[in-house]
Amino acid sequence: MPSVFIKTYGCQMNERDSEAVAAQLVARGWSLAKSENVADVVLLNTCSVRDFAEQKAIGKMQNIAADVRKNRPDVVLGFMGCMAQSRGRELIDKLPDVDLVLGTQKFHRAADYLDEIISGARKKIVDVAEEQGSEATIREHLLNGNAKKSAAAFVSIMQGCNQHCTFCIVPATRGEERSRTIPDIVAECRELVSRGVKEITLLGQIVTSYGKREKRDEWQVARDAAVLPPVTRHSSPVTPFVQLLDAVHEIDGLERIRFTSPHPKGYGDDLIDAYARLPNLCESAHLPVQSGSNRVLKLMHRGYTREKFLGIVKKLRAARPEIGITTDIIVGFPGETQNDFEETLSLAREVEFDNAYIFKYSPRRDTPAAEMPDQVPQKIREERNQRLLELVNEIAARKYEKFVGRRVQILVEGPSWKNPARMTGRTRCNKIVLFDGSDRHRGHLMYLKITRAGSFTLYGDPAIVNL
Ligand code: SAM
Repeated sequence: MPSVFIKTYGCQMNERDSEAVAAQLVARGWSLAKSENVADVVLLNTCSVRDFAEQKAIGKMQNIAADVRKNRPDVVLGFMGCMAQSRGRELIDKLPDVDLVLGTQKFHRAADYLDEIISGARKKIVDVAEEQGSEATIREHLLNGNAKKSAAAFVSIMQGCNQHCTFCIVPATRGEERSRTIPDIVAECRELVSRGVKEITLLGQIVTSYGKREKRDEWQVARDAAVLPPVTRHSSPVTPFVQLLDAVHEIDGLERIRFTSPHPKGYGDDLIDAYARLPNLCESAHLPVQSGSNRVLKLMHRGYTREKFLGIVKKLRAARPEIGITTDIIVGFPGETQNDFEETLSLAREVEFDNAYIFKYSPRRDTPAAEMPDQVPQKIREERNQRLLELVNEIAARKYEKFVGRRVQILVEGPSWKNPARMTGRTRCNKIVLFDGSDRHRGHLMYLKITRAGSFTLYGDPAIVNL
């Protein structure tokens, strides 16, 4: 049977989609290749959020086509995911060595299409059409891929995005919001837990919008089927997303629940209340703020103000004082003045994020921001990126230092990729911890004492370990 190598660019949703494609192929007897140099099929799962990510994937495919195909002309090459969706056939016109272009609603067709190409039944396949029900097709897991036991898994709960932030290409690459049903998601989570998973991260482009566009009667059916806890437990109206959290939280043996990525608009009192009520919901939140300036937030079409955002942070910290808060920030959005940028710096100082992913604004085709006046010169985008990065690093270093001497719970993921002699795990508030352990620790929840802090990493003492 053939072997496949999949390289993934971009977000955790993309990682999850790649895992589902790999699992689909493994289920048909395929093996996973260690690199593109030895694989029969090479797939690049792409990201379109910034131009840089697209250029990287295109450059990589050009190199593979030049190197790999030269010696092994039968190797099959494919693009999947967001760039495949937005560029479609154009990718084959540009790179004639590419055989397959698979859009974001078609991951579950990968195995069939590859069989057709390998058997010679079809030469080239481009499928970027919409497909009803595709949101429920990302469900296979590779838990035992490479014979390694994994205790943390990602579950895709929805696809698409309806926010239409003016900078963002995602609504065009992922389509309209479509959510799976609660019973379907709970069944997948239960199955994972029965296979040893202890931590589940619920995934979606905007998870807090989960179920908002589906018909109410589906939720009623779920409640009648006793998948959902009684509604009376809650004091205020509960969004479908919080109903889902409640239902997943009922699963015996599931120790940790996370979700990403939410939208600040989705942090109503019911979600804050969920943090206070649900002990297995980890005390970490990735809250993409994008800017600290109300003027820029409005231009971005974000739907909240700086004050509203600060209010959410305050409520979250009141509900869970230990909560780790991370964010995404765009610098150099069109029209962003020095004053606007100073407001972003002051927001970062006020919130004291545990980490922030900083993006230099990248114009994306067919997005309103790309046509806005006062595009910020590249040099200024770079300077602002650097200044904000220094501030975020300085704040994070202080916050990480505070962990030294504390006892924390971690879930051990496996050997560190930088130094395989060390094991790596995550705290409940999502900090990476390294310690001198061995494979017998993999998949265990354990407590250890933090002895020192490095750059966005904590180090634990293996001598003070309790399994
Ligand atoms: N759920 C997130 C939110 O609330 O906005 C969206 C996740 S998006 C796929 C990941 C991040 O990429 C965004 O939060 C944003 O900071 C960044 N991003 C999106 N479009 C961008 C662009 N055109 N230029 C630079 N960064 C961008």
